[in-house]
Amino acid sequence: MKKIYGIIGDPIEHSLSPVMHNAAFEKLGLDAVYLAFRVSKGELGDAIKGAKSLGIAGLNVTIPLKEKALSFVDAEVVAKKIGAINTIDFSSGTPVGYNTDGLGSLRVLKETVGELKGKNVLILGAGGAAKAISFYLDAEGARVTIANRTKERAAQLASNLRNANSIGLDAELKEHVKDSDILINATAVGMHPHEDATLVNADMMHPDLVVFDIVYNPVDTKLLREAKRAGVKKIVDGVKMLVYQGAASFRIWTKMEPPVEVMEKVVRDVLIRGY
Ligand code: NAP
Repeated sequence: MKKIYGIIGDPIEHSLSPVMHNAAFEKLGLDAVYLAFRVSKGELGDAIKGAKSLGIAGLNVTIPLKEKALSFVDAEVVAKKIGAINTIDFSSGTPVGYNTDGLGSLRVLKETVGELKGKNVLILGAGGAAKAISFYLDAEGARVTIANRTKERAAQLASNLRNANSIGLDAELKEHVKDSDILINATAVGMHPHEDATLVNADMMHPDLVVFDIVYNPVDTKLLREAKRAGVKKIVDGVKMLVYQGAASFRIWTKMEPPVEVMEKVVRDVLIRGY
């Protein structure tokens, strides 16, 4: 029988996960389909129970459900520490929750930088994505600084890590960018429709800084354009992280190696062509 996978969230109509996973199923010849379901916070528990009863094989979970979904699954240890899930696997009968966002960003950074131990990493943002990314970087032995508009959230996140500190987005941000090896934008700043917004400009950057923007809509964000202007040599957009977190979910569900090149191509095609 055809296996059904999907993503739950609200809003959900612009999710790229259906095209990405369906392309992977087709490439591997799997009899499976991936659909998007709009689910509000109030309906989350019923949706997860219903998915289990209907025999849905796996779900991704996105905004605004990632934190709340923890209470409806048996969460894996890392997901519990991060405090959010983005993947549910139903294969054991009980819904099991995972967080693959951090894994996706870690793979991107390892491919780009190599060893992360001892690197000074400045993360902009203290929301769900920043939590997942900072958890993995901290575990790798990087020195993490969390910079966030709401300073209390940055301080709270840093206090849950082993080797991290926190700042606001004011004057001290400039000093920290200068001292950083890696800059990661994990805020929504620069995302459509605010495509001309950035928290860091070219004059704050140095050419050896690695600049990674996890925003993927648009792919070429203002932050990345500023990085090019500053002569930054290593610039990474958000598409690879999206593909790698999806690939990690795919592996959990199917126990198969996903065709990441196919997944990346279809996502880039949709982003260039428009939704
Ligand atoms: P979230 O939990 O809602 O967090 C949003 C973060 O952005 C918070 O730190 C918030 O600061 C900050 N922020 C929002 N507007 C701001 C503004 N105008 N100025 C300064 N800071 C602002 O969202 P999330 O799930 O972490 O997602 C963040 C971004 O990452 C989104 O664009 C999302 O699409 C992208 N993302 C990409 C991937 C990928 O695979 N590439 C994966 C996950 C997320 P406050 O705390 O002060 O509100």
